[in-house]
Amino acid sequence: MLQDHPNSFRSGPDDTGHFGMFGGRFVAETLMPLVLDLEKAYAAAKADPAYQAELDHLATHYVGRPSPLYYAQRMTEHFGGAKIYFKRDELNHTGAHKINNVLGQILLAMRMGKKRIIAETGAGQHGVATATACAKYGLECIVYMGAVDVERQAPNVFRMKMLGATVVPVQSGARTLKDAMNEALRDWVTNVDSTFYCIGTAAGPHPYPMMVRDFQCVIGNEVREQMMAAEGRLPDSLVAAIGGGSNAIGLFHPFLDDPSVEIFGVEAAGHGLAEPNGHAASLAGGKPGVLHGNRTYLLMDDDGQILEGHSISAGLDYPGIGPEHAWLRDVGRVKYLSATDKEALDAFQLCCRLEGIIPALEPAHALAKVGELAAQKPKDHLMVMNMCGRGDKDIFNVAEVLGGM
Ligand SMILES: *Cc1c(COP(=O)(O)O)cnc(C)c1O
Repeated sequence: MLQDHPNSFRSGPDDTGHFGMFGGRFVAETLMPLVLDLEKAYAAAKADPAYQAELDHLATHYVGRPSPLYYAQRMTEHFGGAKIYFKRDELNHTGAHKINNVLGQILLAMRMGKKRIIAETGAGQHGVATATACAKYGLECIVYMGAVDVERQAPNVFRMKMLGATVVPVQSGARTLKDAMNEALRDWVTNVDSTFYCIGTAAGPHPYPMMVRDFQCVIGNEVREQMMAAEGRLPDSLVAAIGGGSNAIGLFHPFLDDPSVEIFGVEAAGHGLAEPNGHAASLAGGKPGVLHGNRTYLLMDDDGQILEGHSISAGLDYPGIGPEHAWLRDVGRVKYLSATDKEALDAFQLCCRLEGIIPALEPAHALAKVGELAAQKPKDHLMVMNMCGRGDKDIFNVAEVLGGM
């Protein structure tokens, strides 16, 4: 187990996949050999320069990396404090950070000889990224998606189908992301030999939280270099939105051992934290429990039943959070804030008007807190927010909420 106050915040997880008391691998007995196989295969791939070289090549020529680090001058002037930079991961192929992780996992699947790929998706962004990579490599792709989300996110369902994926609407439970993930795990247990489960966030049983984090660390590693080039020093603070926590941990992790860097994660407060079923802030309003193969903070009632998260953003309404964030919160290295639907909508509109960038509703939550934080900082404070997705997928939802614009 990691110590409460380790010498490094970057050394986790331990051999059993724990970050302090969080993480681990709570899976059915039939899955255990697969999870151990995956861990071994990932360790071998990570040590193989050819694997890394292929991933780097794809990042450059297929994804479009490095994504720019952009000085948001008019936002900066508007808030009148910190100098605000956006890490432009919304410019990636398929419109979000998801592809960074998916390509790493798909290359790994092929090394392992698996030709059938399954995935879960909520808003559909991870499903689209997975369908994309499977099309590129000629792999079978099955995406589990809650039936409610299939209705709500029709454009992404069409995208996945265009790309040749099979989308399976999940009818159990509340028919959203949590249920889709349950169904994907069930499929994996049934098709152990042929199938690779491509998880979309830094959650699930070990080694997924570590593996997804490693793939997303390209974000923070680029920011370090780009900020040195732009300002000659490290940033003073980092801000990112949290669903399961993959884009956030990818930005944060390379900076965890730099004590001068303040780090803020932003959860979705939906209608407000006072409403038990009205938000998706697992750290602010949850308690430790086990779901989807790991121990972490979860939204649940007094009987331990998992609650349905709510957020205006379908990418943030997961009732859990990656285990590394649970640990970083408890040891105090990262501060976790939350933004309501309304705050995110205001920030969304502000960003459109001031910067000519239509953000996804997820990073709009981060942006809402950037405004508050930046206003309290001096003008030489360097703040970086991860613009982890573009808003094309959200414009109809936003138009509806704003009354047809
Ligand atoms: C999926 C998604 C998220 C939430 O996932 P994380 O794992 O928390 O990053 C946030 N933003 C966008 C744009 C997404 O597509």
